[in-house]
Amino acid sequence: MSFFKVNENCNGCLACVQNCPAGALNYFDQEDKRKILHNMSLCARCGHCWRICPQDAIEFKYLLTGRFDLVKILELVHCKVCGEPIYTTSLMDAVSKDAQGVEALCPDHKGMEPVRVWKKLASGKASQ
Ligand code: SF4
Ligand code: SF4
Repeated sequence: MSFFKVNENCNGCLACVQNCPAGALNYFDQEDKRKILHNMSLCARCGHCWRICPQDAIEFKYLLTGRFDLVKILELVHCKVCGEPIYTTSLMDAVSKDAQGVEALCPDHKGMEPVRVWKKLASGKASQ
């Protein structure tokens, strides 16, 4: 999908192609057709083509949207106390051999771990 859109107002004047500072626009004439090309990987999103087009044919708003494409979704591990996301399950798996027995706690609640251990020890003693 291209974020560079040229609407039906375009009359093929080539002002955009001739004034693109990044060489991101090109064209070729073949038989009875003029084809205008845009290369997103070269485009600097400077808006020069949009400003210079006499026909208002370039819809620059499309160049300003979709700047971030979703490329990956990962599962999160949340703090067991407050639910704050802390790291991904993949990262946890990668370091799990060094982190066995470590509770999923955010920096704010990491301090609770000794209290929990202390309470466990205390309850163990009480039941003896
Ligand atoms: S400057 Fe505008 S009208 Fe001219 S070719 Fe480019 S998009 Fe079409
Ligand atoms: S936004 Fe700038 S770099 Fe991209 S096609 Fe238009 S003039 Fe060229």
